[in-house]
Amino acid sequence: MSKNFRTLDDVDVKGKRVLLRVDLNVPMENGRITDATRLERVAPTITEISGKGGKVILLAHFGRPKGRDAKDSLKPVAEALSKVINKPVGFADDCIGEAAAKAVAAMKDGDILCLENTRFHKEEEKNDPAFVTELAKLGDIWVNDAFSAAHRAHASTEGLGHKLPAYAGRTMQAELDALGKALEAPAKPVIAIIGGAKVSTKIDLLENLVTKVDALVIGGGMANTFLHAQGVGIGKSLAEKDLAATALRILDKAAAANCAIILPVDAVVAFQFAANSPSHAYGLDAIPAEGMILDVGPQSTARIHAAIDDAATLVWNGPLGAFELAPFDRGTVVAAKHAAERTKAKKLISVAGGGDTVAALNQAGVAHDFTYVSTAGGAFLEWMEGKPLPGVEVLKIR
Ligand code: AMP
Repeated sequence: MSKNFRTLDDVDVKGKRVLLRVDLNVPMENGRITDATRLERVAPTITEISGKGGKVILLAHFGRPKGRDAKDSLKPVAEALSKVINKPVGFADDCIGEAAAKAVAAMKDGDILCLENTRFHKEEEKNDPAFVTELAKLGDIWVNDAFSAAHRAHASTEGLGHKLPAYAGRTMQAELDALGKALEAPAKPVIAIIGGAKVSTKIDLLENLVTKVDALVIGGGMANTFLHAQGVGIGKSLAEKDLAATALRILDKAAAANCAIILPVDAVVAFQFAANSPSHAYGLDAIPAEGMILDVGPQSTARIHAAIDDAATLVWNGPLGAFELAPFDRGTVVAAKHAAERTKAKKLISVAGGGDTVAALNQAGVAHDFTYVSTAGGAFLEWMEGKPLPGVEVLKIR
């Protein structure tokens, strides 16, 4: 995939005004940044362009403001970024107009400037052509390093790519390389593990995956809907019984595509949705009517273990059980640790993504041992659904 689009290897940035779209949407509480992971991710591209003598002009959104709103200013984020990259980061009070133009005109080669929240202008999300033109005046080239915003066709995430020479930043490049290895040209066999609460949020995902992977593990609350559709009594478990027909259709599609479906064969059942509530493993023919399935059972865990052993590539989204509640994180943690071991032994390429999945892998202590963990929630899911991402499409060489 990486050969389809231009990267920083294809341009001499020295002396150029580089409009660099980044993800600065860090979590913030009472004006303090609680997690700087996203700032660390954008650091390499900023440092590289600055080091090569390019003028780095950062474009980003923050929150979901309706018009200008001081609480969604990027100013404190720019200050925090300056600490992470250990270089001064200038700031302009607007991303277009005189404030922006003046600040850009004053830049020297290698300088870094952050422009105010693009979403202070409603034209950003509308991908308004006049707004794109205003942004484009500030730069000579556009570099997109915000994979996490690439599922949106906004002015700074997509529109600029039609106006200026467009390149992928290093973070975007790494993400596209990893994802390409996982689903577009993967080492076979490919296994997907899909868990999480509901089928309804992941129908497109399941339908796409059954045509692409050799085996699909379905776990978490969503497996209950499948088990119910197959006539298994699931007691008081979380399930979307009205989606039984959808579940059966997905199973049929999998059979037609030769995709093996691995559903739980046993379950850990409790009688309260609470940490450490008493629980037992049951076979599927014996789930108590008053019980709730909160995790995959030991036999299912063994099956998933074996399925991971059979695979050369793993794509993972969603926990296999109610992982926030001990001990119902067990199935997820055991599978995650095994996938990490196989990856370390160079037997498996493992790619995972989505908010809860990253949290679950961190809880298992193995996020760093996976080949790639994507922190891009919505964009990662849309990629897994097989949908073209506008912010990536526009980077492709035509
Ligand atoms: P998602 O955001 O769709 O990936 O869903 C993640 C959520 O699914 C987590 O909060 C889990 O606690 C929840 N979950 C997973 N398995 C179960 C289950 N068997 N019963 C209830 N909730 C579950």
